Amino acid sequence: MYKKQDFHRSLWLFTVVEVYMKVFKIEKAGWEKGICRLAESYALFGPVREQDFHLFKPLKNGRRPDIPAQNTRMSVKDVLYPQSQPMFDYSLDKTDEDHHQLKDVPWDETPRAVIGLRPCDADAMTLVGRNFVAEDIEDPYWVRSLAATTLVGYACDNPCPVCFCTSAGSGPYHDASLDLLLADSDGAILAQAVTAKGKKLLAAAGWDAAEDDSLAETIAARKKAAEAKVRAHVTTDKLAGHDTIALYNAGFWEDVAFSCINCGTCTFLCPTCWCFDIQDETHGAKGRRMRNWDSCMFPLFTLHGSGHNPRGRKVQRVRQRFMHKLKYYVDTYENGIQCVGCGRCVMHCPVNIDIRRVIGLMNELDPDAEACDI
Ligand code: SF4
Ligand code: SF4
Repeated sequence: MYKKQDFHRSLWLFTVVEVYMKVFKIEKAGWEKGICRLAESYALFGPVREQDFHLFKPLKNGRRPDIPAQNTRMSVKDVLYPQSQPMFDYSLDKTDEDHHQLKDVPWDETPRAVIGLRPCDADAMTLVGRNFVAEDIEDPYWVRSLAATTLVGYACDNPCPVCFCTSAGSGPYHDASLDLLLADSDGAILAQAVTAKGKKLLAAAGWDAAEDDSLAETIAARKKAAEAKVRAHVTTDKLAGHDTIALYNAGFWEDVAFSCINCGTCTFLCPTCWCFDIQDETHGAKGRRMRNWDSCMFPLFTLHGSGHNPRGRKVQRVRQRFMHKLKYYVDTYENGIQCVGCGRCVMHCPVNIDIRRVIGLMNELDPDAEACDI
């Protein structure tokens, strides 16, 4: 039965959708002015070029986001989940008043905005968040970082040949994980708020002046054209149904891993890899506990204190990377694969190991094929 509150809910949803689906046009001068305004109330981050590649950095001292034609080499992950994160300080010096106490490292609470990440990177942050926020426990560093950050995406009109986002739960105009979507249009920029945070940023920048209903059609047409340019696709429909042990013992792992040099490039560039190690940096009796990105491709990652290493062989580590992304994650979260199809690991692996091929092998696993014992 249709209830009154359902009517109110649909009315509310309609109003929200109407507000957020508005499209605004930002001319070049307005863009420049808006970035200056935003710098007054947000700590800004954006893609910048360093040597021959782009990565995300604070936009200080008048630095502007430099949106590359294709995706940045380093993802946005470092902004929300830093490669090295101080957790707390301590002192074992008994002459210190607060010795043997864990002290929070000061945290800058200024609201932050990342300007110009690609939609696939934003979707990757949703995946990483599933690891850091569970039903019974939350990672405080991730939670405060995400809460303080507004994600301003830049639609991708030139997907790389290695991108396969549209078949990995994302897409060049996918806005599900963004607060605000920007898109190029004939020398101007179009802006569409997705969340309240995005709407607030639009207003703070003064970018919400020139509304034009017809621009929604422009965005829809550009989205269609961009999606058509994504040439690579993967099929993942059978992964959840496969027996885990059968995949684990599949005969193709030695072949997949043969050329890997365990450099870790794939995991460090991947926006969805979340593994870390915790280490103490000590100076005399004082110390700081750090959380640093780690990689399942490194032998030390699983080395036990006893000297035993359950993944001592390269092939075991390569299998772990793919089993985690394409089977354990799939079964645990029931939300697709732990990959948004950004293509970075395909483009930058020095020995051309291609996750698209591995997805094919895993998805099409023949249950009667010869198993291996690695
Ligand atoms: S980037 Fe390639 S060679 Fe390096 S660890 Fe990853 S799969 Fe192996
Ligand atoms: S596994 Fe490769 S293609 Fe998928 S999100 Fe990570 S880097 Fe991108």
